[in-house]
Amino acid sequence: MRHITALRNVRVRGEGLATRAVDLIFDGGLITAVEPAADLDAPGAEEVDGHGLLAMPTVVNAHAHVDKSWLGLEWQSYGGEGGTDGRIRHERARRDELGIPSVERTREVLQAFVEYGTTALRTHVDVDLGVGLRGIEAVREAVAEWEGALHAEIVAFPQDGVLRRDGVADLLRQAVRAGAEHVGGLDPAGIDRDPVGQVDVLLGIAADEGCGIDMHLHDSAELGAFQMDLVIERADRLGLHGRMNFAHGFAIAQVGESRRRDLLQAMGELGMTFTTVAPLRLPQLPLHEFDDAGVPFAFGTDGIRDLWSPYGTGDTLGIAWQYARSASIVRDEDLQRVMDLATRSAARFVGREVHDLVVGAPADVVLVDAEHEMDALVRVPRRELVVGAGRILHTAG
Ligand SMILES: [Zn+2]
Repeated sequence: MRHITALRNVRVRGEGLATRAVDLIFDGGLITAVEPAADLDAPGAEEVDGHGLLAMPTVVNAHAHVDKSWLGLEWQSYGGEGGTDGRIRHERARRDELGIPSVERTREVLQAFVEYGTTALRTHVDVDLGVGLRGIEAVREAVAEWEGALHAEIVAFPQDGVLRRDGVADLLRQAVRAGAEHVGGLDPAGIDRDPVGQVDVLLGIAADEGCGIDMHLHDSAELGAFQMDLVIERADRLGLHGRMNFAHGFAIAQVGESRRRDLLQAMGELGMTFTTVAPLRLPQLPLHEFDDAGVPFAFGTDGIRDLWSPYGTGDTLGIAWQYARSASIVRDEDLQRVMDLATRSAARFVGREVHDLVVGAPADVVLVDAEHEMDALVRVPRRELVVGAGRILHTAG
């Protein structure tokens, strides 16, 4: 991981379709200057010539599961039943033999993320009676190998339910006390079959411990919307403003427009956010309705190549493409907005004030061969160079 002090002769986003040529100057892991590109005879030893490639802030993966992949191992055939609970059982039956969770398995996933231009992520990590906090420890160790060039926030995730297993709520509280930034949740109705009970326990932990909440919500249509109502009502009562995220939340795109407008308005007032994996065959989050309500969303890969599904590569820009394509987004301003959601606007999902190519931001940059960011979104080009905290983490070819 070579330190560099400058990334010279790159193009960054300008007005409309225009880009402008700049030199990005780094110090102490931050961007300290963005200057008009100067004529370059030869880059210095700690400088890189960007050859006029497009520079963008790195892509934020706001919803990952880096602890549970078999990436790097031989093909693992899926032998479980269908449905969320069937997949949970299949994972629990086979994870030990594959060394899940472990530093080794997590290392493979993080390497893939970096190669696809991700240097900041939020990952859910399984916490249950079988692994306890072992997964969180493995993830922390694998992230630490990047010596600060990779930033990860951790969600203590009760994949196997909260209330249906005695002792999980205590484990979640321990995980947060040991530094997990968020407490997770999973289908309070569909999995625990006690929506009020699970929401009360999770929000209670967040209120006591001062952490965020990031809840998986797969339940569809009105059942999902009802659980959103529950969370909104209790979060408001407990004063959990700006600390709640719904992951997936398929229901919001399935209920009628007026029901959705009311939900989004309440979420906007509570400073809530969403993450999406741009699911195929399901309606996408409506971009303008979310923007009108002031509810930002960000993209994530979810689990990749794991005991739930063999799909996924770790490319979050590819997820943003999948979203834009399946939401029929074609106008320039909307394509640019999707790129912002995948990069700049996702700062808050990884605990950052700013994640952009501006002075004071982390020196996290990805170079691609593209006309501008909209072109990069629709083509998903190879990531030519990835810089994290002013260090070269990956070069293509
Ligand atoms: Zn997930």
